[in-house]
Amino acid sequence: MSEPKTFAIRTFGCQMNEHDSERIAGMMVADGLVASSDERSADVIILNTCCIRENADNKLYSALGELKALKKERPGLQIAVGGCLAQKDREGVLDKANWVDVVFGTHNLAAAPKLLRRSEFEGPLVEILESPDPTAAADMVPALNAVREVPWAAWMTIQTGCNNSCAFCIVPSVRGEEISRPLEDLLEESRLLAEQGVCEITVLGQNVNSYGRDITKRRPLFADLLREIGKINGIERIRFTSPHPKDLREETIAAMAETSAVCNQLHLPLQSGSNAILTAMRRGYTAERYMEKLAAARAAIEDLAVTTDIIVGFPGETEEQFEDTLRVVAACNFDSVYTFIFSPRPGTRAADMESEYISPEVVKERFARLKDVVDRSSLRQHEARVGRTEEVLVEGPSRRDASVLSGRTRQGKLVHFTGPNEGLRPGAVVNVIVTHGAPYHLLGDYVSTIRGPRHKVRIPLHVS
Ligand code: SF4
Repeated sequence: MSEPKTFAIRTFGCQMNEHDSERIAGMMVADGLVASSDERSADVIILNTCCIRENADNKLYSALGELKALKKERPGLQIAVGGCLAQKDREGVLDKANWVDVVFGTHNLAAAPKLLRRSEFEGPLVEILESPDPTAAADMVPALNAVREVPWAAWMTIQTGCNNSCAFCIVPSVRGEEISRPLEDLLEESRLLAEQGVCEITVLGQNVNSYGRDITKRRPLFADLLREIGKINGIERIRFTSPHPKDLREETIAAMAETSAVCNQLHLPLQSGSNAILTAMRRGYTAERYMEKLAAARAAIEDLAVTTDIIVGFPGETEEQFEDTLRVVAACNFDSVYTFIFSPRPGTRAADMESEYISPEVVKERFARLKDVVDRSSLRQHEARVGRTEEVLVEGPSRRDASVLSGRTRQGKLVHFTGPNEGLRPGAVVNVIVTHGAPYHLLGDYVSTIRGPRHKVRIPLHVS
């Protein structure tokens, strides 16, 4: 019998794309292929792309440039390109890289194995759908067979697409309108994940807290979903990303506060502290309204860690408007801020505001000033945790020092801690006393073990 073919997936972009890759990997395994962590020897290489982040095009086409040589060495190698950039560039991918075998989009990820098989006989194939095909969209395929990186935590996509129209964002045009998966399917999937030993579920959606709006307008289904997943035996931690501030409802805050499994963590993208810029971005809230919602969440949810996203140098941003952002960021006392330099995505409104682009020197200087405020805020929040005992889900040895273990608190903070390396396996939950706070992590000492790992699999398959 011949050896099964091997595949490797290279993922660009956000957690949703990472999760899509896990599911593509699951489908490839179901099709008889074997996952490989060595891309150079794999029979099939899939590039799962993202066009949201800066330089996405450059990254894809330079990766394809590297693979051209590999394909020359091994003509049997199959190369597939999927995800947002494929959805956007379509046949253009083959125009630029005619050594690619298959191009598939965001609405038909599940078609990848079939397209790869067909292309062996039919040559290069491009299949892009304009809207999800329920039989072919991996977005709508449960994650149970996904090849996950770790066995104790899972992502679960609850909704695809976005009905908003933020001026800087390409998502609505590549992912389409919001489509929510049925609540019952999500609960069934959560129960089965718990049976597999998963204790942490991160719920994913482009506009996650508007989940269910396309199913019913009568009830806030996102709040119901959090409460119902929280009742499932074995699910101890629920996180979600990314919510939209304008859609953060009282019911969601109440569900977070009253469901013990929902982690004390809220990522609430602010984007700018200037109302004029927020209007130009079409975000649908003011800085004041954002701060009111944040205050309501902090009042209701004990020990809530809050993170955000800020874009520096949106077209037309004046010095005064940037200073508004600095003031709001300082006032919000964020635990962490993901800062981005504006970069135009072709096809978005902001890309057409070329005459108002801010010079790179000014943007660089503003970025450094923002980073300073952000780092001080993170440090303050982290130093305030020194002396506290935190519940930590162990992830394994620290990347820098194998004698130290790393894990995450319920607030999502990375902790490196010393302790009994013997017998403490990834997936265990322990108490750690915090001894030091740095801007991006905490240090601590092991105190006691709450429980050992619940999952049965020791080593997961690896998605490269
Ligand atoms: S809410 Fe705005 S930023 Fe988020 S996915 Fe939708 S359009 Fe993009």
